[in-house]
Amino acid sequence: MLYPLSILSLLLLALIHLTHGANYIPFEPKDTISFETRAYWMRRANAALAELNSPCPFTAFGTVIVNHTATSDEYPHGKLVCMSVNQNQQKGNPTLHGEISGINNCSDILTDPKGEYKLSPQETLQAWKTLSLYTNAEPCPMCASAIRWSGFAECIYGTSIDTLVEKGWSQISLSSEDVFEESEGLPSKTSNFPCPSGCSRAAKSGYCEAVVAQQGKSEL
Ligand SMILES: [Zn+2]
Repeated sequence: MLYPLSILSLLLLALIHLTHGANYIPFEPKDTISFETRAYWMRRANAALAELNSPCPFTAFGTVIVNHTATSDEYPHGKLVCMSVNQNQQKGNPTLHGEISGINNCSDILTDPKGEYKLSPQETLQAWKTLSLYTNAEPCPMCASAIRWSGFAECIYGTSIDTLVEKGWSQISLSSEDVFEESEGLPSKTSNFPCPSGCSRAAKSGYCEAVVAQQGKSEL
């Protein structure tokens, strides 16, 4: 016969086994966009630096804003709505990081009465929900907040904040994941993709690595 305390111990042990012994899979939004398409747009974000600024920009941060719902034979990777780069040095405005400068550019393009879209301000506020923002470096807390207030469908970034700090860039040490997590009270949702499908960003290295390689390591 088991005493109540022993039964409680067994239940606790079973609970510990279930929560720690089982393969725990953290929630991650499902990435339905191919690696090829993700890589194409991340390269366009890099290329925006030379196209809009200089082949040797002082602040090497570029952004492209893409409509993946507009994929067609003409636009197999989705359609570019606008792009931008960090404009601090050009405009003297410290808030014009690549992402916020990109949002400003897209807003002008989407609402231009003589442009392609001719959206009203209200229609533009709804349009962000269908767009994806690619930035070659992880959004800082200011930009991550702007991305969440905009309500983008997706945010995809390249270099992590930790790596930027490691390379000597001054940064506010708050990850975009943390900002996104704390913004769950906003009505919109934004999927944050730090890596293309099939890869995962290792906490220590800060780089995207193949998931297969990570699983191999964990089995050692
Ligand atoms: Zn920023």
